[in-house]
Amino acid sequence: MAGQIRDFTPGDATPEDSIVIFGAGDVAQLTHYALRALGLDVAYVCDPLLAEAGGTLCGTEVIPPGALASLDPGTTCVIDAWDHTRYARQPALLDRFPRVHFSVSLLRGTDFSGPRAPVLPGERERRITHYANQCQALLARSAQVRLRSLDVVVTEACTMRCVDCSNLMQYYAHPRHSDLDELHTALERLMAAVDGVDEFRVLGGEPFANPRFGRTVDLLTSVAEAERVVVYTNGTIVPRDANLASLAHPKVLVKITDYGGLSVRHDALAETLTRQGVNWLSQKPTWTDSGRIGPVERTRAELERTFRDCCVNDLVTLLNGRLYLCPFSANAMNLGALPDAPDDVIDLRTERPADELRELISTLYRRSGPLTACSFCRGRDHTTPTIEPAVQVRRPLPLIVLSERTDR
Ligand code: SF4
Ligand code: SF4
Repeated sequence: MAGQIRDFTPGDATPEDSIVIFGAGDVAQLTHYALRALGLDVAYVCDPLLAEAGGTLCGTEVIPPGALASLDPGTTCVIDAWDHTRYARQPALLDRFPRVHFSVSLLRGTDFSGPRAPVLPGERERRITHYANQCQALLARSAQVRLRSLDVVVTEACTMRCVDCSNLMQYYAHPRHSDLDELHTALERLMAAVDGVDEFRVLGGEPFANPRFGRTVDLLTSVAEAERVVVYTNGTIVPRDANLASLAHPKVLVKITDYGGLSVRHDALAETLTRQGVNWLSQKPTWTDSGRIGPVERTRAELERTFRDCCVNDLVTLLNGRLYLCPFSANAMNLGALPDAPDDVIDLRTERPADELRELISTLYRRSGPLTACSFCRGRDHTTPTIEPAVQVRRPLPLIVLSERTDR
């Protein structure tokens, strides 16, 4: 199918055509808006999770992938989701449709300045650029190893202790800042082995808690191929001096999660960042119940599905010199809660030939089966219940060391 996919241009569909958008993320919403702006109606959105939840997208009915079989093969499919592995892992779903498009040029050519345009204005360009990069890689049919993003953890410490933190900070009894020399060596090895990383995400815990986090931000902004360095903070610390200066780089976006009264320095941080010319956004969070380590009763098929539909199953994470496929796996293993699973982690602390490392990273990134950690994770998809964010606990949660279940 990849050979037939084309960039959508206005003449590719008429108002009489039936159009389905595949996927339901930000790019799908932007595509929906852009098609409507051309006077083209979207008949359906296809998304397994939103369909199961009975949702609609921008007023359009959402159907599950199984319903694609009943659509006319002449249907025009526009795909939002090549930046998302759960679709990239199922290309056969679209095999019977010869008219398959991505929407990069469409999005680039649409005026989103209207008040009803979807997605936060500060996020639109980033989403579209991500999408464009992933489409390009797909079209080139390349053997590129290009990561959509990399979570760079600069500390295990946080100024808050949220009982349901999906990065598992609530379990750290003795959190440590990352050894930045080790981190930088690991990053250099990683970058020498892959074709690029579109976006770095600097986080912890609370990244500003590490008094030298600016060194890492400086290193990441100096990586020529990386387009963005996003720094996630909870709004409790206002950085100063060299740390603050590192943020005043055009590639940097500081994302403040606004936890209301818990984000005690939110306004002071926002003022300081504005004064320094730092790009920043502040958002109220929505949380899913994804922050506990413990065995979850699932059949093998359910486990496979948990991994496949997980929205962070490609959020590659660098933590203490080791590379993991998702933040839960990273922190659960770093805490020692799970047994080391050699296929789930790549140790960047020891040197190895770049082509050998490239092969290991490619295998981990394109993995199609669940991680050991998935058996002990509640999952992160649209069916995971939402919960109250940032409920605080005074003490770390007790850590139970688990072993992989073998009774399936
Ligand atoms: S969710 Fe809470 S505990 Fe976790 S990193 Fe954010 S502020 Fe810290
Ligand atoms: S452990 Fe599995 S289900 Fe949990 S966040 Fe990671 S990939 Fe998703």
